[in-house]
Amino acid sequence: MRVVRLAHETDLAGWREAARRLRAEGVAPEDVFWAVEGGGNLFAADITSEVGVGQADAGEGFTVSRDFVAVAERAVLNRSDERFGLLYRLLWRLKDEPRLMRDASDADVWRVQALARDVDRAAHKMKAFVRFRAVRDAAGEAFVAWFEPAHRVAEATAPFFVRRFANMRFSILTPDVCVHWDTQNLGFTPGADAAAAPRADSLEDDWRTYYASIFNPARLKVDAMTKEMPRRYWRNLPEAALIPELVANAQDRTRQMVAAPASKPARRIAGVPRAGAAGPSDDPPQSLEAVAAGVSGCRRCDLWRDATQGVAGEGAGAARIMFVGEQPGDQEDLAGRPFVGPAGQLFDRALAQAGVPRDAVWITNAVKHFRHELQGKRRIHKTPSAGQVAACRWWLDAERALVRPKVIVALGASAALGVIGKATSVGKARGAPISLADGTQAVITWHPSYMLRLRDAAAKAAAFEGFVADLKSAWSLAA
Ligand code: SF4
Repeated sequence: MRVVRLAHETDLAGWREAARRLRAEGVAPEDVFWAVEGGGNLFAADITSEVGVGQADAGEGFTVSRDFVAVAERAVLNRSDERFGLLYRLLWRLKDEPRLMRDASDADVWRVQALARDVDRAAHKMKAFVRFRAVRDAAGEAFVAWFEPAHRVAEATAPFFVRRFANMRFSILTPDVCVHWDTQNLGFTPGADAAAAPRADSLEDDWRTYYASIFNPARLKVDAMTKEMPRRYWRNLPEAALIPELVANAQDRTRQMVAAPASKPARRIAGVPRAGAAGPSDDPPQSLEAVAAGVSGCRRCDLWRDATQGVAGEGAGAARIMFVGEQPGDQEDLAGRPFVGPAGQLFDRALAQAGVPRDAVWITNAVKHFRHELQGKRRIHKTPSAGQVAACRWWLDAERALVRPKVIVALGASAALGVIGKATSVGKARGAPISLADGTQAVITWHPSYMLRLRDAAAKAAAFEGFVADLKSAWSLAA
């Protein structure tokens, strides 16, 4: 057994050097044990020799694909003990199987991609859940946060925090490594423990006020919420203290909201945006909660004026498939949730017949506020304009970037415009997958309300059958 002692837990350079040497010497993956300095038991009885790391590279020349390098850079940040051995096994095989990384059904490829995905998820959570506390030192005000990432992503996410808080002195303390930014230089020091972080400050009241104001009881799905905001992060989130009470009161508050008459939009002076207005230069939101909060304060087009509230998407935060409708209808506008009205109920039936679990998908709309006109006391749906769909694409793109579905199903022409970016005939494009620039597949089909409008029972039944078939094939495409 050959042993490689790497300098630290994310020592990709050391791994690369040792791996090349071992590969050149023909040492098979099962004969190598990968250890990290200070990492404990090395099965000493089996060791025949150690492979030096830190000397000149003695490996033979053999290049690997960019796919492998990209996935290795992420997978190495995973806390799994198997990562270095798995990467070496892939490297070993790549010489004879140069297209291996494209074979998603291969067990090793699948596994390394899963490790990399977990790392991406941990980085995403870190960007969303770091909460700073204000401190003062000799140089003035600074901000310190304590965070325990699921994987070793503190260094990899540091540039994000620098971009976001360029003018703020901050430190992010984690058990792996601490990140420091003094508005000029980025530095790292060894990991710390929670006791080194400052205690609660007044910023936490602001977080709690903000969270309570964006919490919508009608949109509450505890499973989806805990998936998006896993409990392991709660102890460092000031707003998490509010969750049990908000959840306990959600049903009562929803009943009150639905029973209350729709509120009239407040009068405002034309041309003056409200606080929280989203402008074209804003950074894209970093979490689905931020999308929901952003939608409720959005003024990118004029639809917010006459709607009760903005309705963001809901469902599984890492869904393989995303359904995009046109806009919230009358009932969705009141409830604050997508697809809860008659079209939503028909959609639920179609999903059930197609074998697609609703809680495994992400459901949203191309436009997040209800466009309508008043006829007497009734609010009659009005198709959103191309300009409104284009304005709201900011939020749809943000949801796409965060959920990262494999397949997006556009329900109707407005949804197709939002997803594909150009007017498309549903009749002509229906059912055939379209490859989008970001690698996702789009499938266009009818909006459920189309079937509700059909008068002829036979035509309605045939359309419903076709709709279910479209959902089924999109679901298989996403598998
Ligand atoms: Fe903003 Fe979309 Fe609402 Fe227009 S419809 S105000 S773009 S969220």
